[in-house]
Amino acid sequence: MRCQRCRGDAAVEIRRHHAAFCGDHFIEFFDRQVQRAIEDERMFTRDDRVLVAVSGGKDSLALWDVLRRLGYAATGLYINLGIGGYSDESHRKTVAYAGAHGADLLVADIPREFGMSVEELARATRRVSCSACGLSKRYLFNRVAIDHGFTVVATGHNLDDEAAVLLGNLLHWQTDYLARQSPVLPSTHPTLARKVKPLYRIAEREAAAYAIIRGIDYIVDECPNSVGAKSLLYKEALNLLEQASPGAKQSLYWGFLERGRALLATQDAVTLRACVHCGQPTTAEVCAFCRMTERAAERMRVQRLRGAAAPAVAAPIGAAGAPDSGGAG
Ligand code: SF4
Ligand SMILES: [Zn+2]
Ligand SMILES: [Zn+2]
Repeated sequence: MRCQRCRGDAAVEIRRHHAAFCGDHFIEFFDRQVQRAIEDERMFTRDDRVLVAVSGGKDSLALWDVLRRLGYAATGLYINLGIGGYSDESHRKTVAYAGAHGADLLVADIPREFGMSVEELARATRRVSCSACGLSKRYLFNRVAIDHGFTVVATGHNLDDEAAVLLGNLLHWQTDYLARQSPVLPSTHPTLARKVKPLYRIAEREAAAYAIIRGIDYIVDECPNSVGAKSLLYKEALNLLEQASPGAKQSLYWGFLERGRALLATQDAVTLRACVHCGQPTTAEVCAFCRMTERAAERMRVQRLRGAAAPAVAAPIGAAGAPDSGGAG
């Protein structure tokens, strides 16, 4: 297989584009796709300060790396979720990248700030781990962005992620989620940062190839809580389709962006206001994150009164400032 640009040995084949590239020309291809995503969807400019949510995985580290190489002011934000060895390893990989490349990194620590890991938060509020985790991450991404003057939060969601979410939303005809599914979620409140997904034109295996070619050491293991997740099933199904029909994922998701989402754009916009406890944007009086942490703190207090062994809990979170990107949760 030959590189279609220089005819040298190809390192990466991209069947959906009927293309193959050597390492250098693959990086050029990757850069072009990311730059095009940023421009086509008007995500940000080189004047914006971009906060990149970094988990230590291939997608987020590749995103952080490509944005910095393309000349954007991209600072990383790592959130320690307190998920045992997985969190320790992902933190190590993130810090190692920042150190090796002189990249700016902020760290938020859920157990230290809120007195319990996301798994403990989930148990105390009878949620599944990923629900408590997702709510906590959305909350902290936004709060750190606003507190530190970032205009945009960028996440490493790739084409496979977005196509799997779309398939899930379609299978259940979640029209409200479909209406909001986009590589850009604009800021609709002064304390709500814009959210963007600059890798939506990049397939998962292309993000991995980028990380390997660029010599980025990323965490390969998935979070232990992802076992059995529906999104993995949807990805498997889409991989089968992609194998038989290269370009299926791209056609599904890009087609939705070009034609499908316009059909759903008539949904009423929600009105956001400031959470009375933390000031973060929400549709309710108290945001979903404050409600979750207050409930967790209350349950822990009750358990302690009953003499049950329970981890230490931070004081009610309200004063610390908190939550999500607007869902009433
Ligand atoms: S799999 Fe669930 S718990 Fe693990 S990082 Fe993702 S959302 Fe959080
Ligand atoms: Zn080449
Ligand atoms: Zn709040």
